[in-house]
Amino acid sequence: MPDGCPGALTTHLAADGPLARIRLPGGVLRPGQMQVLAQAAAELGDGTLELTSRGNIQVRAVKDPDGLASRLADAGLLPSETHERVRNILASPLSGRVDGLADVRALVGELDAGLCARPDLAELPGRVLFALDDGRGDLCGLEPDFGVYAQADGSYALLLAGHDTGVRVQRDAVVSTLLECAGSFVELRRAEWRVAELDNGAARILKRLQLTAGPALTLPAPVEVPPIGWLDQVDGRVALAAGLANGVLGARLGEFLAAIDRPLIMTPWRSLVVCDLDEEPAEQVVRVLAPMGLIFDAASPWIRVSACTGSPGCEKSLADVRTDLAAAVDARMTPRDERQHWSGCERRCGRPKGEVTDVIATGIGYRVS
Ligand code: SF4
Repeated sequence: MPDGCPGALTTHLAADGPLARIRLPGGVLRPGQMQVLAQAAAELGDGTLELTSRGNIQVRAVKDPDGLASRLADAGLLPSETHERVRNILASPLSGRVDGLADVRALVGELDAGLCARPDLAELPGRVLFALDDGRGDLCGLEPDFGVYAQADGSYALLLAGHDTGVRVQRDAVVSTLLECAGSFVELRRAEWRVAELDNGAARILKRLQLTAGPALTLPAPVEVPPIGWLDQVDGRVALAAGLANGVLGARLGEFLAAIDRPLIMTPWRSLVVCDLDEEPAEQVVRVLAPMGLIFDAASPWIRVSACTGSPGCEKSLADVRTDLAAAVDARMTPRDERQHWSGCERRCGRPKGEVTDVIATGIGYRVS
């Protein structure tokens, strides 16, 4: 079966037009790249950027897919035409700046370069996920196909199909081990999209690579509430973590974010982090951008709710779930102590991992389960 996962070059024809998904390894965007994306969303898309649960960005209703691809390439957001859909690399968003046992930032670039350099790995499905957890345990619960979880002794636990294998690797073997595991999956898979779908997949990959497993850790549960608000960095500067209603960033707000001229990180919780700010500019950012839609209050109901695309973007949807969710938030009808995910049909796309209450459109209202 062909891989239908959308990319920047292979757009998906959604009900509201072509959809392009732009992979951002580690969720990292330079300010100039955010400016290019914001401008492209305004001029070639529907005027918004959608954050995804893998720290990527989507542009909807693309009028000129070739024009978009050319802008992305010029901005360095399309380093490999053959591997663009398999660059699904998550890294702990605050790594090296706030807490964590290791700094995994450099590993992102090394893994991305190694992935793109191996022709066989272009055959990975677009759904495959790599994760570099810096030891705080924020990514383990996202069930990566291939991942590492930093340990206090300086080693990294090797994760396959969302579980600890019991194998430990040192920092300089992290990238090569992950790439070898991915290569083995390419050789072993038939119609499976994820390692978890492959019969005895993790054990077969370890055997192929002659890796011996020790006792496995029980991994931390998925993150319930992402980091939000003012965060003090280890270098004395400030990181601002912000939520967005429905995980959607308007092009104008994107241009303001670019103008701050600081590194930006998109998180797998459809929020973002503005990094490396001095205190005074950080206060200004909060003052200017909170009224434009950035949510710096961890108690906001938007931090605990999410929705699929719904109508009009998805033809399967039985409701305009994002508009309905916004109305429920405005009316203070969403619970403050649990996570809710609203879906336009039973497929429940984008549903977060972990304990989540589902609110599903039925055509005659919503069913809560
Ligand atoms: S959950 Fe259903 S309605 Fe929502 S995006 Fe997925 S397929 Fe479409």
